[in-house]
Formats: sequence, C-alpha cells, structure tokens
Amino acid sequence: MLCNIKDQLDNPAVRTIMAASAFDPSAAPKPLDQVTDEERARLFPVILSDYNPAWPQWFTEEKENLLRLTGTNKITRISHYGSTSVPGLTAKPTVDILLEINEDTDIDNLIASLPYPEYICLNPPTTPSEPPYLMFLKGYTSTGFADKIYHIHVRYPGDWDELYFRDYLIAHPETADEYAALKAKLHKDFEYDRDGYTDAKSAFIRAVTEKARKETALERMTENNQWVEEILKDRNLALIGFADLSEIDTENRYGYQYGICIAIALKVFPSATNEPSKEYYIEYKNVSARLREASDFLAEKIKERGFNACSLAHERQNEAYRTQLPFKTLATRAGLGWIGKSATLITKEYGNAIRLNGVLTDLPIKVGTPVNASLCGECDKCVKHCPGHAIMGNTWRLHVDRDILLDAVRCKKAVVERGKVFNVTDGTCGICISVCPWTKQYGLELE
Ligand code: SF4
Ligand code: SF4
Repeated sequence: MLCNIKDQLDNPAVRTIMAASAFDPSAAPKPLDQVTDEERARLFPVILSDYNPAWPQWFTEEKENLLRLTGTNKITRISHYGSTSVPGLTAKPTVDILLEINEDTDIDNLIASLPYPEYICLNPPTTPSEPPYLMFLKGYTSTGFADKIYHIHVRYPGDWDELYFRDYLIAHPETADEYAALKAKLHKDFEYDRDGYTDAKSAFIRAVTEKARKETALERMTENNQWVEEILKDRNLALIGFADLSEIDTENRYGYQYGICIAIALKVFPSATNEPSKEYYIEYKNVSARLREASDFLAEKIKERGFNACSLAHERQNEAYRTQLPFKTLATRAGLGWIGKSATLITKEYGNAIRLNGVLTDLPIKVGTPVNASLCGECDKCVKHCPGHAIMGNTWRLHVDRDILLDAVRCKKAVVERGKVFNVTDGTCGICISVCPWTKQYGLELE
C-alpha cells in the first residue's frame, strides 16, 4: 500500500510545514485540518513533468544517503520505482524509493536515523510486530518543495507489485506511452484532486501489474524447464515431458502439482518371434537402470535448487501390477503420447520402444498440452500378436482404467513363460512393442 496525500495531511508535522508555505509564508502556520478541501486541493495540485534524465541520478544520490544514515546491515534492497524510474515517461517529479529492511530491524532506531525535518516520517507503527508500512518524505520545506522530492517507502523484503509494474513499462515502451496518455488525460480532469487522480490510474496499474506477474511467472517456468533439460543433457534422454498433475487425485500424486517424465528410447527391439531376445532383455535392464539414476539425480538437483521433489524411480507395483502414479500418466499429461491398445505409452517419435521414469515436484514448470485421445485407430497388431492374449482390443480414452485395455495377470504369465528360454525369472516379452507400426517407423529411422 502506498501512502497517499491524506496520510501525509494526517501527520501534524507535515500539516504545519505545508500550511505555512501554501497560504501565507509570513503568517503563523495554519494547521491543514482547518483549511477547506478546496484550499487543500490547491495546495497539492497534480504536477506532470516531462521525463528528466537526471532522475536516476537523484535516486543514486539518495540511495547513498540512506545507506550512510541507516547502515547497510538493516537494508536488504533499495529500488527506484514509480514513473521517474521509467526512461522517457511523463511523471510527477517525485522519486519513489522502495527501502526493504531486515525483519529484525529496530524501527525506532531506523526512524531516528533519518532525522527530522529533512525526513518526515509518516505512519509510524503502532506495535513492534506490525509490518513497517513506513513512509518518509524528503524535499518538503517550510517554503515549499525543494528541488528534489523523494517518497521513501519502507517495507520488509517482498515480491512487490510496484517493481513488476516498473519493469513491464521499461520493457514495453508502447504500454508506457499508453500510461503517459492516460496520465495526461486524467491530469485535465483531476488537477486538483490527487486522490481522484490516483484512483483513476489504479485500474490501468492493476491490469498491467497482473499481466507483468503472469509473464514473469511464465518466463521463470520456461527457465526452469531449460534448467531441467540442461542438467539432464548428458543422460541421452529421448524425451523430457512437463506435466501439470493438478487434475489427478492429490493423494495419488503425493500432493505434488507437477510431474517431469523422462524417457530413453530402446536401441535394441524385442523379438517378435517365439525366440525371445537376450539382447533386448539386457537393453531393457540397462535402460531401466539409467532412468532410475536420472530420476534420482533430477530430484536431488531440484531439492538443491530449493524446491521439493520426489523421484518415482523406486515405486513398486502392487499385486495387481499397478503403481500409485504410473509413468504413463505423467507422460500423457505432459503431452508425450497416448496410451495404445497394449496399455503402453505410444509416442509419434519412438512408438512404444521407450522406457519411462519420472519425478514429482513443486518446482514451477511450463507444462505441455495433455494428450487425451488415442491415435491407434483401426490398428490391432498388438492385439493379434500378444502371446498371452492379454490385450483386449479396446481403445484408450481419458479416465479409462488399464484393466479395460489389458489383462495384466495374463501378460505377466506370458512374460515369465518367455523368460524361461534363457532362465530369467522376471521374464521378457515386448512383442507388442515390436509389432506396433509406430515403433516400426522408428525402427526404419534407426536403420
Ligand atoms: S508384453 Fe507380451 S504378453 Fe504382455 S501385452 Fe505385450 S505382447 Fe502381450
Ligand atoms: S500396435 Fe496398433 S493398436 Fe497396438 S498400440 Fe500400436 S498402434 Fe495401437
């Protein structure tokens, strides 16, 4: 909240100084609470000035004063904001300064460090624990305004709207021009009504600030995606997908809003004959281990960045061969592909010749567009070739249960049976991978 002129007039020190200069400098000061509204409005007209390139220097000078007077140990940041901070913008010639202080700052000491009457403190706190919301005026003298006028707003550290508004205007000169035009128009209507002038600007400021916050949030999310891709770049991942999971039951997603799905493409395909492939079995194991390592690594890196994360690498299937949050769900929500009739994730790039893993996190990320429909069409290759007759032939839609697509018990039986050929107890199959036309397309590209 910024102090307006009413706050200023409520301060006895300001009332006395300003009344003396405004009406009759030689007369005894007249308290402003005794002047009429009209006199008060005349005393504080809205002044608009063309941009003055010296304003940033005014800020720098005052910043140095504040550091010297208050001591650097109290201050976390000093920012120039308001219209004088936007190059080229028409402005009220007052330099607004945001002075962010440590939360353990002794407020009485701070007030004492900025001496009256050079600095006039408004709104001193009523209790020690109250946020400061202090404002200091500088440049108000007994003979009127000084050459340089400052409003110093004291806050605890925060994510303040005013800085978003400033940065947006600096980055978007066309919006700054719109703002200047609005101010010029309002100046005509509200020259002697500062509060009316401020109120009339507020809708514009609110709308621009909201837009600025959204754009900034999106930029930060995009940066986070790039950061994830960068730290995983040595792991030869085929796909990285970013999912918004908020539509999934909170418990199933362990309370996390976002999921990052990672995939490695198989270079060796399963055999589609009665002779299962040992090479594929080894590839499957290797790829799965690499994905587990990558998920654990990513989760740790996200935590180091100051966010929460949980690797899904060590999720175990229950007796119905289900996990609480399947990787496939992350993948479809991230837009990587759809669930085929074989109940596996099918991607346009690799068919289902991929393995998946994932991480849940609260790191804000830019999410992909979910895939909600199957592209299997009339194809039934996997249905026909499944040695366990486990694939039902049904087409996936959003919210369709896996059991409608696949009899997981039959599949497991067939997998174990085929694994006996080279004595692996966890089995091997993957015929539904080899016969899928989307995988074959990828296989052609591999050759
Ligand atoms: S892995 Fe084998 S048994 Fe299981 S669904 Fe695919 S083709 Fe059928
Ligand atoms: S083989 Fe055909 S039906 Fe089966 S998953 Fe692939 S595209 Fe879909």
